[in-house]
Amino acid sequence: MILTKNNQTLTCDYLIIGAGIIGLTLAYQLKLKKPQAKILILEKEAEIAMHASGRNSGVIHAGFYYSAESLKAKFTCQGNQLLKAYCRQKQIPLLECGKVVVAKNETEIPKIQELAQRGLQNGVHVKIIDTQELNAIEANAKTCEIALYSPDTASVNPKTVMLQLKSDLLAQGVNFIFNEHYSKKIDAHTIKTQTGQKISAQKIINAAGLYADKIAKDFDCGHDYTILPFKGIYLKYTGTDQPLKTHIYPVPNLNNPFLGVHFTITADQHLKIGPTAIPAFWRENYQGLRHFKLKEFLQILGIETLLLSKNSFNFRKLALDEFPKYFKNNLIKEAAALVHTINPKNFTTWSTPGIRAQLLNTRSLNLVQDFLTEYTESSIHILNAVSPAFTSSFALSKWIVDTQLN
Ligand SMILES: Cc1cc2nc3c(=O)[nH]c(=O)nc-3n(C[C@H](O)[C@H](O)[C@H](O)COP(=O)(O)OP(=O)(O)OC[C@H]3O[C@@H](n4cnc5c(N)ncnc54)[C@H](O)[C@@H]3O)c2cc1C
Repeated sequence: MILTKNNQTLTCDYLIIGAGIIGLTLAYQLKLKKPQAKILILEKEAEIAMHASGRNSGVIHAGFYYSAESLKAKFTCQGNQLLKAYCRQKQIPLLECGKVVVAKNETEIPKIQELAQRGLQNGVHVKIIDTQELNAIEANAKTCEIALYSPDTASVNPKTVMLQLKSDLLAQGVNFIFNEHYSKKIDAHTIKTQTGQKISAQKIINAAGLYADKIAKDFDCGHDYTILPFKGIYLKYTGTDQPLKTHIYPVPNLNNPFLGVHFTITADQHLKIGPTAIPAFWRENYQGLRHFKLKEFLQILGIETLLLSKNSFNFRKLALDEFPKYFKNNLIKEAAALVHTINPKNFTTWSTPGIRAQLLNTRSLNLVQDFLTEYTESSIHILNAVSPAFTSSFALSKWIVDTQLN
């Protein structure tokens, strides 16, 4: 351990709170820029990748959904290339299967054109294809007249990427403390964990995902925001055949940040449908009453009741559409509309769920669509690292290191 222990206070240059993909890539980009920097990563779980980063679809997005001025547009396209380059360098298996976005009916055709337009503006390789071309790419995909083809969308196992990053970081002298969490701020440069351990750093970097908003407030940041958790559940296909070879997505509602239930092929060639965006009742509300926290539950229930009563961002419709997806048949029915044929009986198993740390603006009562960071002289808070932040991570973290951690 190269950290200096001073009267029980651990000292480092950079303290990163959270060993998700953002915390790990921030450390990686910091080490590239400042090889001598002493970095400590504090993680409340026993291992990396226990939350969103290890529970996502593993899709490496191309970057055509986002409006041109957004950080998502900028960093998804770059992040796609950087993440793939890292995987190739480290020999991490990539499934370069591409993706199609299909239209369920005529009203969705202009939306496909809008996505293609955004793709071109964002410098992403996309193509509008007709039904014949679609048939050649993915014979099982069903569309109305046209579809969007994205050859650069791919899949990777997110845990493999993160284990490799952890091993690279350890080799470069980055320190990890597991099973210990940020508990409170002592002063601008010092925090305390639940065991009473004090840690002091020149810069404190908050990459705590579902808890980033809470930590930010201790540092006088993020006052207009709170995390609103949305649960993504998946069903796994357990048939012995391979009904698809390409990801198939619906046209999303571009007014909210979710992409709609889709077919994903994982890096090891398994098919799954999902994820949903079901409003959750506490931050780590994965299953049953695990991780239940009464205070969190009451706070989130209060916000959700307010959103229902004001119908902000059409929350009533979202809730009405999403809750029924807890039932297998509804989830399968929604995905089945994207293909010609699929045997519903082969979706037998639920896969690991994930929870999106979606930021809500508590003044406007709208969901924050883009990545968002806030910082002080001694701290930086990554407040809205929502999808596709896994894809964008290397590029987003490089930007944060270059512009906000000087
Ligand atoms: C269902 C789902 C599907 C998705 N699909 C995709 C996809 O296909 N492609 C894509 O690009 N993106 C996808 N995403 C988004 C992507 O997973 C996230 O944007 C990304 O993982 C966010 O990373 P993070 O490091 O900010 O958060 P996390 O992975 O949640 O990491 C935060 C870490 O902070 C730790 N922590 C929290 N509080 C404390 C504390 N007090 N002290 C110490 N540690 C703490 C947590 O334990 C956790 O390890 C998906 C997300 C979900 C939920």
